Amino acid sequence: MPLLFNLRQLDIKNLHLKGELPLEDLDLELTDELVHANKPLIYDLEVQKLEDSILVQGTLKLPLKLECARCLKAIEGAIDLRDWACHLPFEGEDPVIILNDSVDLTPYIREDILLSVPQHPLCEPDCRGLVSPRKDLKTSGEQESKTSAAWAELNKLKF
Ligand SMILES: [Zn+2]
Repeated sequence: MPLLFNLRQLDIKNLHLKGELPLEDLDLELTDELVHANKPLIYDLEVQKLEDSILVQGTLKLPLKLECARCLKAIEGAIDLRDWACHLPFEGEDPVIILNDSVDLTPYIREDILLSVPQHPLCEPDCRGLVSPRKDLKTSGEQESKTSAAWAELNKLKF
């Protein structure tokens, strides 16, 4: 279930939304291979209707599994937005999308979570990284010989 609320309910009173948003719905496209999410996002939000907009405030927390960018050690981490606020105007350049009287907060949450993904995670600030980088050199060497073998095949075809 995406994180929806109904505007008609909001007409009566402020809404308190609390729960977990499954990763399938959050649908984060984490491009950094050092950052992994394997638990749902935890939210605790207060939604109120203002004259010309909706205001959402509260906390968002997404547990993360990180890998140190230098030594690849696993680190427990989290994106923890304690004073998250989202202002959704009814009109203007970027109005809130309302479908069947409902507003889906998922895209707004996704955007701000992605902006908060840790860059270049480290197990400790002065991590010295892997002692020997030999493994990497070996791999790139293998790739090179594969490439030249492929070129040799291509050359054979030409003649
Ligand atoms: Zn490290």
